[in-house]
Order: sequence, then structure tokens, then C-alpha cells
Amino acid sequence: AARSKSGVPDVRERTLIAVKPDGVQRRLVGQIIQRFEQRGFKLVGLKMLQVSDDLLSQHYCELRTKPFYPRLQEYMTSGPVVVMVWEGHKVVQASRTMVGHTNPLEAQAGTIRGDFSFHISRNVVHASDSLEGAQREIQLWFQKKELLNWDCFDQTLTCEV
Ligand code: GDP
Ligand code: MG
Repeated sequence: AARSKSGVPDVRERTLIAVKPDGVQRRLVGQIIQRFEQRGFKLVGLKMLQVSDDLLSQHYCELRTKPFYPRLQEYMTSGPVVVMVWEGHKVVQASRTMVGHTNPLEAQAGTIRGDFSFHISRNVVHASDSLEGAQREIQLWFQKKELLNWDCFDQTLTCEV
């Protein structure tokens, strides 16, 4: 990894997390943010928006031909979502673990889906599934100027390992 001025590696891994419309309706935004904060990740972008059909089809480009896509589109455009970018060491992998299995019935208790949902078409939250996917999704949802680089008060105790 690249080195910052202090000599410790720059942690630049980022992932896209979204609270889906059911999560917003159910007032789960705060609890979901809290889980990422308490895990130690750094919030570098956050906004609320109504997703268009076009944005959704770009976001889920690999799922467009699936039989469940119309239902997924209806779900994801039914109300506002809160979309965030979180940064930190192996944040892509860590957030997939925190979010849990796609099907909430298979998600472990303690994961977001395992604690807050019971159906695959109402599974509360999105998390990028790979580094490449995260980069693609972040570019799709955020403009560069909407992502903030800010310093942890003690880089070695908070953001670095
Ligand atoms: P994720 O990365 O765990 O969110 O799962 P995928 O990328 O495979 O799918 C994206 C989203 O589409 C999931 O979170 C579900 O909300 C929805 N989805 C995936 N598979 C199914 C399915 O078989 N049936 C339905 N109804 N929805 C699905
Ligand atoms: Mg996915």
C-alpha cells in the first residue's frame, strides 16, 4: 500500500453500502451506520436519494436479465435509499460479513440481514461484493467531490493496523 507522511500505509479501500427503501422506512439507518462506526470504519460519503430505473439497472447490471429483476426494481425504487461510502482495512470483505447472506433466512444472527430481515426481496441493505465492484459502484453513485478525505485524530490507533 502507498505510504502516508507518517510512514504508515494509506488505507484507501472503500466500499459502497446502501440502506435500501425498507431499511429507510423502518428507521434502521442509524443502527446500520452505528455498526460500521463501531467496527472502526471511516465514513467518507453519505447521501439520500430516490433511485431511478436507469441508475438501478446500471447498479445491478449483472441481474438485469434475472426473472426477479422487475420485482427488485420495484422494491429498490419504491422510496428513498441512503447510500454511503465506508473506508478502511479490508472493508469490502468485512462489510459483506457484517451484512450477511443475501437470503436473510440463511444470514447468521448478528449480521444486519440476520438481525433485521427475513425475506430476500426485503433484505434492508446493500454492500459491494468485491474490490472491483466497489470501485465501479462508488463511481456510479458518487461524484468525486462528494467523497471526503479526512484525517483520523490518531491514524495509528483508529484507521491503521
Ligand atoms: P447481494 O449482493 O447479497 O445483495 O445479492 P445479489 O447481488 O445477488 O442480489 C442483489 C439483490 O437482489 C439482493 O440483495 C436481493 O434483494 C435481490 N435478489 C437476489 N436474488 C434474488 C432472488 O432470487 N429473488 C428475489 N426476489 N430477489 C433476489
Ligand atoms: Mg450484490
